[in-house]
Amino acid sequence: MDNKLKEYAELLVDVGLNLQPGQTPHISASIEAAPLARLCVEACYDRGARNVIMEYVDDVVSRQRYLRADEAVFSEYPPYAKARLDWFVEKKSPSLSILGSDPELFKDVDPARIQAAQRAAGEPAKPYRDAVTASRIQWCGAAYPTAVWAKKVFPDLPEDQALAALWDAVYAVCRVTGDGKAVERWQEHIKATTRRAKILNDYNFKSLHYTNSLGTDLTVELPEHHIWAGAADRTPEGVGFVPNIPTEEIFTAPRWDGVNGRVYAAMPLALDGNLVENFWMEFKDGRIVDLHAEKGEEHLRASVDLDEGSRYLGEVALVQYDSPIRNTGLLFYETLFDENASCHLAFGAAYPGCVKGGNDMSAEEQKAAGLNQSINHIDFMVGTKDLRVVGVTHDGKEVPVFVDGNFAF
Ligand code: ZN
Ligand code: ZN
Repeated sequence: MDNKLKEYAELLVDVGLNLQPGQTPHISASIEAAPLARLCVEACYDRGARNVIMEYVDDVVSRQRYLRADEAVFSEYPPYAKARLDWFVEKKSPSLSILGSDPELFKDVDPARIQAAQRAAGEPAKPYRDAVTASRIQWCGAAYPTAVWAKKVFPDLPEDQALAALWDAVYAVCRVTGDGKAVERWQEHIKATTRRAKILNDYNFKSLHYTNSLGTDLTVELPEHHIWAGAADRTPEGVGFVPNIPTEEIFTAPRWDGVNGRVYAAMPLALDGNLVENFWMEFKDGRIVDLHAEKGEEHLRASVDLDEGSRYLGEVALVQYDSPIRNTGLLFYETLFDENASCHLAFGAAYPGCVKGGNDMSAEEQKAAGLNQSINHIDFMVGTKDLRVVGVTHDGKEVPVFVDGNFAF
């Protein structure tokens, strides 16, 4: 266990952040994740960090606040919080987030409170959000199994066994075995996703057409100069990093105004501490014009109504049905994992790097190039065992991209 935890921490610092000597990273983690966070801090100093800023959050306190604080506080964003984010941007402080909350942490919280807090952060946090989405700072999100989360994934196991089983699953999909070679395995993995991204880039599809037996029939137009990217990203200074561990996806941006038809979710979505299940969305010229969820519809609606851009898609990602995460047979109730078990889409902001030169464009130029803008970005899973995706080239040729849930190449 200890060997694996150390290998995991080093993977996050060396591959996730790819921390460089002299940098000052900031790490946020739940108090329960302290054993991993401390090893990450140690690894950062070992690699020459100038300083490491550790920020712990307590899920129990966060929940109490949402349930009991004065209504007005959710519309406030204190200047010190903005100053903190702006400082991270100025210092190009690499960001490591260690997740692991109860998927239903905010059950019974009024969705309006969550929506108000997200809206209040919208403008003040924009420079920071832009720096992250444009890869001007190294960033990585990873997870730490907690007892409440494990209970959700393994409801039939006693608490200690559930936690052990979740650790096994997390280590397996993160390619951590305890032999000290996770970093090498990740370098191989990055090569493999880069190969497929290149094939997709060479096709330069005009649009993708999704169909499956759930009833999905969706056409997604791609921006003229879109770029497919895999596991790794790069800062303007050329420092490669991996934003999500684990990651299996190859993704780009759709044209915000070029999505038409209906898509059915393939898996439940843990959204802002609540579950949304069995839902579909209907699109017209990019806009979500109708939706329905059997469970948690109010939370899905609150998120889609967060701002105008939340009504449009910002990401299209291809993931093999036959992926290490899907092959665990588990539903993680954590998007960081579940999105890597399934082809997914995201409503909300696009990553500007998904279009040639996008990172250097103004907001208006990005929009004109097809990139959606929003304070939101919510991935939801659409890939089923029988998903078919056909790419259409600019000269009208149809190329199978996904057959029976898996890449055709
Ligand atoms: Zn994605
Ligand atoms: Zn995403």
